[in-house]
Amino acid sequence: MPLWKRADVYSCSDLDQILVNKIAERFENMVSKLQSEEKILGEYGRPTLGQFVSIHSLQAKLIPTLLLTPGMEVALYQAGLCWGRAAGEVMIKNFNIRNVEEFVEYGGMVSKKLGLQIPELIEINEFNGNIKSVNIRLYECSDCFGVPIVNMPICYFETGKWAGGMEVLLQKPMEGIEKKCPGLGDDFCEIEIKERQY
Ligand SMILES: [Zn+2]
Repeated sequence: MPLWKRADVYSCSDLDQILVNKIAERFENMVSKLQSEEKILGEYGRPTLGQFVSIHSLQAKLIPTLLLTPGMEVALYQAGLCWGRAAGEVMIKNFNIRNVEEFVEYGGMVSKKLGLQIPELIEINEFNGNIKSVNIRLYECSDCFGVPIVNMPICYFETGKWAGGMEVLLQKPMEGIEKKCPGLGDDFCEIEIKERQY
């Protein structure tokens, strides 16, 4: 069964109550600061240590959890999808984004400032004026950069996140698949986001 079908058993509204909406509020504040070129370091973080952490500690938690917990990839994908929808709305509204190129450009600007990854738009496939799929590469992804080969893709949250953002932008259900990842031995991540096939 495809990942998105397994992930769909969870509802974004369950996550909204406890997580997504609250973080989306802070994200919106942060995005407006980014637009006005104000410094964000420390402003939304801890008083002394700020908001950034080492990717090694992040990966030390994420990867064993992913490898050892059955179904974890589904939960991560779904959490990313819900977050991507919420953050996508904030991005599209605040930056007045009109198309995929602008979405990846502004998403890339925010991702770089937050130290998450460097996205690059690789391909847009259209049929009769409708966007059917989008391919995005993520360089230096914080979830997987430098990890040993574990024979599986790692960035389920990031894959869901970009798919969720594309859903809001394109106004239709999309599914994300990570086709390349340092976890598989690649130098970068590559995500295909395509129209859902029922
Ligand atoms: Zn990856």
